[in-house]
Amino acid sequence: GSEECSTPEDNINVVVRVRPLNDKEKRDRHGSTLQFPGNGQVILEGNDVGQKRSHNRDSVRVFTYNVVFEPGATQEDILDYSGIKRIIEMGIEGFSCTAFCYGQTGSGKTHTLTGPPDLFVGKPNPKDPRHGLIFRSFLYLFQLIKNRKDVNYVLKASFMEIYNERVIDLLNPGSARKPLAVRWSKKSGGFFVENLFTVDCEELDDLLAVLEEGMRNRAVGSHAMNDHSSRSHTILTVHILSDQQTDGGVFLSKHGKINFVDLAGSELTKKTMSEGKTLEEANNINKSLMVLGYCISSLSDSKKRTGHIPYRDSQLTKLLADSLAGNGVTLMIACVSPAHYNHAETLNTLRYASRAKRI
Ligand code: ADP
Ligand code: MG
Repeated sequence: GSEECSTPEDNINVVVRVRPLNDKEKRDRHGSTLQFPGNGQVILEGNDVGQKRSHNRDSVRVFTYNVVFEPGATQEDILDYSGIKRIIEMGIEGFSCTAFCYGQTGSGKTHTLTGPPDLFVGKPNPKDPRHGLIFRSFLYLFQLIKNRKDVNYVLKASFMEIYNERVIDLLNPGSARKPLAVRWSKKSGGFFVENLFTVDCEELDDLLAVLEEGMRNRAVGSHAMNDHSSRSHTILTVHILSDQQTDGGVFLSKHGKINFVDLAGSELTKKTMSEGKTLEEANNINKSLMVLGYCISSLSDSKKRTGHIPYRDSQLTKLLADSLAGNGVTLMIACVSPAHYNHAETLNTLRYASRAKRI
């Protein structure tokens, strides 16, 4: 069957990135279940491992997205072709936008957003081709605002983690002991995290320091046991505040925002439980990913959009609500593995990505 999603110029862009088979998978001769016929399409062949072949022989599914990144795509390709540049430009114009990576553990979410963790051991070399989307977005952002001498910009950044519905400040590791409260602000009409460090970033280096510090704390924190990173969501937010005087002499002030979100692994509950996740962890992850998917699909549906959207049902969607409900753009990067043994998870991710956009 054909499971499509395509309307290019709206407020949700869905792209898929397929990671290469790793060395172990190549040694073990795992074939690829995916084919790329072009035109934003992905073909998924084969069956779930363990499923009786006779039940569902020669299963072939076709999915369509805005963009498909094949395993050879570089980190620079993701910056150039994912639509993130439009998100950065809209953030500068005062909109709240979100880019997030969805996928099972090991599918390349963190690689796509930040690159390999050892990039952050010591001082990163800006020319390193392994740098991820966040680093590259910062460079692009500064390139754009440096060219606007007529506008005064102030940048601020925060970096948090949501683990079991508790918010931890990645710029303030002490908060792991006493999680921060998520509150509703009557004044701004939105949710916010109380006492979250929000750092003024005058230079590119200040923004990079936020990324580096958060990555270090995520990796070494006392809470980072047991492959913790696959069970938590992280949100790095850049606020872009600006003031300018228009030709007519009036002052114009804007507050834009870009969230970069690395989601918890989306693997199915049955599997995650057998790998040692607690029921509470699995339930919290499943619920927040489900609510997020629902919120996003209502973005592209004008009827649903005016109805009730359950943002309040998870911390993740509370904190992303203003960008999901507003006029900003959301970019979903669905990360998948091409290996046969990941077939069920790859199907799950491709479907989630399709639903996010189906009208
Ligand atoms: P996730 O964050 O989804 O759990 P990771 O980003 O940690 O997955 O990726 C798992 C492994 O695969 C890492 O060793 C990572 O470096 C590697 N990897 C992921 N995507 C790619 C890619 N596009 N190219 C090369 N290596 C990749
Ligand atoms: Mg990861």
